[in-house]
Amino acid sequence: MRLQRTHPVACLSLAIITSSSFAAAEAMHSVVTPPSCSNNQGEPVLFISRSGLQGQVAAGMAYRDTDGNPIIYRMNYDKATPAFQRFIDFHECAHHQAGHVDQPHPPRNSFGHLMNESIADCIAILRLREEANETYAVVIDGLKNAMTEVGFPKSSTDSRISNVTNCYENYGSSAEFIERVLTQSRAD
Ligand SMILES: [Zn+2]
Repeated sequence: MRLQRTHPVACLSLAIITSSSFAAAEAMHSVVTPPSCSNNQGEPVLFISRSGLQGQVAAGMAYRDTDGNPIIYRMNYDKATPAFQRFIDFHECAHHQAGHVDQPHPPRNSFGHLMNESIADCIAILRLREEANETYAVVIDGLKNAMTEVGFPKSSTDSRISNVTNCYENYGSSAEFIERVLTQSRAD
């Protein structure tokens, strides 16, 4: 998918890729109700679901559509466990909450890009702690398995897990963390 300059679209982040074999021998899962989500300007974020696209992976995307509405696009969520679907939703919502969607998209794998992903993961795990804490272990396991299976090097997987775990164990509320991120980005 390409970004067009006429759109205020900035971020097309593929949050999590989970293969079908991870999703318990191609079992289909029911798709969870999206969490509440509004962006850093207080606009409600719309969730759109599609299945059967590019087959085997569950993923999410955060962007604005051509009319400027903030959107989360949920792809193939029936391929992921409900716990994992929720994590993808929180992660994509975080890109809206942190204002990443309206910032220039940093080059793939640049420091800025990885930083935005770490921030989104951190917000996601804090919201998970607040709203579905009992699923923490499932999400961590899922993240590990999925990244390994898709072929991320162990070092990337380890550093992503370690960031998420650190946020989960040591950080305050998601609201406080988001506020800090927004203050920081206004100062830059
Ligand atoms: Zn992301």
